[in-house]
Amino acid sequence: MKPQASGAEVAAVCARIESLGFRAHAMPGAQRTAIGITGNPGPLDPELFEMLPGVAEAIRVTKPYKLVSREVKSEDSLIRVRAIDEGAAEDVVVGGEELVVMAGPCSVESREQCFAAAGAVKASGARVFRAGAFKPRTSPYSFQGLGEEGLKILAEVRRRYGLLIVTETIDPENVELVERYADILQVGARNMQNYSLLRRVGRSARPVLLKRGMSATLEEFLMAAEYILSEGNYNVILCERGVRTFADHTRNTLDLSVIPAVKTLSHLPIIADPSHGTGKRDKVTPLARGAVATGADGLMVEVHADPDRALSDGFQTLNPAQFEALMGQVEAIAAVLGRRTARGAARV
Ligand code: PEP
Ligand code: MN
Repeated sequence: MKPQASGAEVAAVCARIESLGFRAHAMPGAQRTAIGITGNPGPLDPELFEMLPGVAEAIRVTKPYKLVSREVKSEDSLIRVRAIDEGAAEDVVVGGEELVVMAGPCSVESREQCFAAAGAVKASGARVFRAGAFKPRTSPYSFQGLGEEGLKILAEVRRRYGLLIVTETIDPENVELVERYADILQVGARNMQNYSLLRRVGRSARPVLLKRGMSATLEEFLMAAEYILSEGNYNVILCERGVRTFADHTRNTLDLSVIPAVKTLSHLPIIADPSHGTGKRDKVTPLARGAVATGADGLMVEVHADPDRALSDGFQTLNPAQFEALMGQVEAIAAVLGRRTARGAARV
């Protein structure tokens, strides 16, 4: 749509699309609204829409993924995250000037453990607290998480520390419960192609953090995001968390090149997780620096007050002092790119 197009003009174009039996996806941007069309069996004549008031141009999307592509929406998407418990934490925008840092332990273990981590990450400038209450573990005998009890602890963290909450949801039946506590729904690497889960979070009112599958190509990653947008949820944050390669000096290989590649092909923001992306504590900070330098919109970092006692992923988890050092370095690199973190504000 043209930048000056009115809400009524946007609605009229959507109505025209729906009257043809297709689905209209209006995605507002800072300058203008893009309207994607899905459900059409083949190419449509651009003239069907170009004549309508307020329309700037009608473009045929050539990519297999439609709604996530830059062809359909040239402007970067800004994903606003709001606390579901109103007033508990400040809104955060992912994809804009602020480099948004999400940090916390791998799993919710106890109230005390979460409070200790939350106090530390907040003081260093994290805006979002991460911790899993439902853990999809490689072994069925490993710690599986505290479930709803863990979600309740996360809700307490939000109130007490003013941090937004991101936590994983593991299957379609589980989404309703996680939605009652989380500000962002995380879909884990193992579930990137769990299409019923993708469709379900696509019908949620919460933003979704979608992690890249450990052997997913960029196209498969974007197609997974497309599942979510196709259901009407346009608030998707991508997350590079490392892929499986022949390398054995790390657990995964954090694919930093995917960050600029995503930026070219898609309007969605992408953050990086150097914790799962390397699996080694001493590699987390260097790769965090690299991810920010390559244009990541944020970071997800595992932090625990006592990493060696963590019930999961301790070997890749930073302690608060290491996280504080990471944040200092990342803030300096972000500044080179004209970005900032919440760390300055946290210090005063
Ligand atoms: C996590 O973030 O806790 C997690 C399990 O990550 P991934 O899905 O990337 O393995
Ligand atoms: Mn973990």
